[in-house]
Amino acid sequence: MAEPVQTLVYGLGESGVAATRALLEMGVAVLAADANDGKNLRDAAAALVAEGAEVRLAAGPEVLDGVDRVVVSPGVRPEDPVLRAAEGDGVPVLSEVALGLELLGDGVRVAAVTGTNGKTTVADMLGRVLETAGVPHAVAGNSWRALTGCLDEVREAGLLVLEISSFQLHYMAEPGFEVAALLNARPDHMDWHASFEEYRRDKLRVFEGQRPKDLALVAADDPVGLDAAPGLPSEVLIIGEGETAVRDGRLYLSGEELARADELSFGGTHNYSNALFAAAAAERLGVSMGGIREGLLAYRLMAHRMEVVAEVGGVAYVDDSKATNPAAVAAALGGLDRPVVLILGGSEKHTDFAEILPHLGGCRAVLCQGEAGPRIAGFLEGRGYGDLVERSMDLGSAVVRALELARAGDVVLLSPGCASFDQFAGYAERGEEFARLVRGLVEERGVVRR
Ligand code: ADP
Repeated sequence: MAEPVQTLVYGLGESGVAATRALLEMGVAVLAADANDGKNLRDAAAALVAEGAEVRLAAGPEVLDGVDRVVVSPGVRPEDPVLRAAEGDGVPVLSEVALGLELLGDGVRVAAVTGTNGKTTVADMLGRVLETAGVPHAVAGNSWRALTGCLDEVREAGLLVLEISSFQLHYMAEPGFEVAALLNARPDHMDWHASFEEYRRDKLRVFEGQRPKDLALVAADDPVGLDAAPGLPSEVLIIGEGETAVRDGRLYLSGEELARADELSFGGTHNYSNALFAAAAAERLGVSMGGIREGLLAYRLMAHRMEVVAEVGGVAYVDDSKATNPAAVAAALGGLDRPVVLILGGSEKHTDFAEILPHLGGCRAVLCQGEAGPRIAGFLEGRGYGDLVERSMDLGSAVVRALELARAGDVVLLSPGCASFDQFAGYAERGEEFARLVRGLVEERGVVRR
């Protein structure tokens, strides 16, 4: 029988480079490849070659020759020719996170968080609660660092808080997490997944391989998690109903009062739900009620998530640039009880904005900008919101117009519901530009117009 020859690491971004290094350290022969070529990739390739990897850029399906499995980066799409060919040849494909979990083995406890929106926030909240309580842990995955790049630290901590995307779950079998949270599953990334059904299936993989003593967390307002709950083999906690829910402005965990909503630095029903997910996970991982409460009271939301970047002339300017799908916009609007001048739009993912319609009643105006702006504007006009809608070329002109329209007591909200790549390198750059534009204009004009 032929010996297993080589692992192909396909996609040489941060996680591909980390996976290559982790395999080399284990003494595994690695072929690292990327379909593209360019300066950054050549620099990465040169470094990996010096460490003992074989590297190919501008790679096609021929890289599969002699390969016994493929480790794939999250950026690579399933219809990529190399992945298609691997599938056709029966070569196993696993995500970089799946490789990381395999290399970690059984000695590490894992709390995994997935969902369309809120993953980073819940992972961060849980990390902060554990930190406040003095519980050693490491946070990795998805928007954090690559798991394969911090294996020693994770082993030493013995506890991993893992943020995991549907892309990473797509190529992962039976992870068997001690705590697995599905926050929500709403249409997004339909440019990557073949269908919502596939996206849903991938999200539900977070529960695969769990045992009866493990814990699954789902949300009462999420049909995907709720429908799956009765069939899960583990203990299931439904966040938002029964003893773990928000009632009369108070957050309850397992029937005990955790905090009053007005004691927390953050607002929005979705963030209270996020806090309860983090709290339930922390409780399972051994943190006391007092420790959880202390961690949540100290918690501050991360940048570009409902971040107030200026407050002038009675108008609050809020950067929610991380809202890259309509569900996140709906959550943002649902959490505000002041008139809103909303800035929507960015790069086009052809998502359905129907989800925001029930929340538009509180808007003074909706400015649709960027590549997807005209389509979104047309959609909202077609649904009877023509009075609210205005078109702006780009973020810059939308901000100028928002300042003209906003009155004292309003919120100017950048919650675009789209990715940023039509005008920016990422959501953070977009949010920073929004803050810069707002501050510049406010200064130039002295006060905001009423
Ligand atoms: P992710 O890592 O899943 O992208 P983030 O925590 O970075 O999630 O938040 C992304 C966007 O979604 C932000 O605009 C945030 O305000 C919004 N958001 C956070 N939690 C939720 C939730 N539970 N439901 C809906 N939207 C949410």
